Amino acid sequence: MTIGAILRLAYYFFKRLIVRALVRSDGVARFQANYGVERLLPLSPTHRASLAKFSGCLACGLCDATFTEYERASRADFRGPSDLPLSYSRSLPEYDALDPYLAQIRRGDLAALEAVCPAGIPFRALVASVQEHASSMPRGERLAPALPRPKSGRFDPG
Ligand code: SF4
Repeated sequence: MTIGAILRLAYYFFKRLIVRALVRSDGVARFQANYGVERLLPLSPTHRASLAKFSGCLACGLCDATFTEYERASRADFRGPSDLPLSYSRSLPEYDALDPYLAQIRRGDLAALEAVCPAGIPFRALVASVQEHASSMPRGERLAPALPRPKSGRFDPG
């Protein structure tokens, strides 16, 4: 590393420290400005505190075998309870699309699912957290296409 590189590194390091000390920044507002357009909204403190518990699914299938309300559930919207911890709850921008699924899983006994789950997934808290987050999302807004459509079948980068 050259002397010039070290001096540049030191300059930007101390500049950053000074800016951080003098300029107040609202992390949540910056997060929303950066990620709101992608529908990534901040989690509630309760949801955030439970993230580790929500994500420990082992894919054993015991909850799917324990769920007793398949006959009353719309199978088009619901394959089984394990879909929630394994997959659906991992895509924050799509939480508001989970209303039909949540309506079906609520037909079952969530406490019974918790009792058989070897990973201790708290189904009642998970369903409530997903529902709460979904209700805080702006409705009817979807991501704009990330790339412009090519005019003539070929992608035009610029
Ligand atoms: S019982 Fe628990 S660990 Fe097994 S699939 Fe269901 S949520 Fe996952």
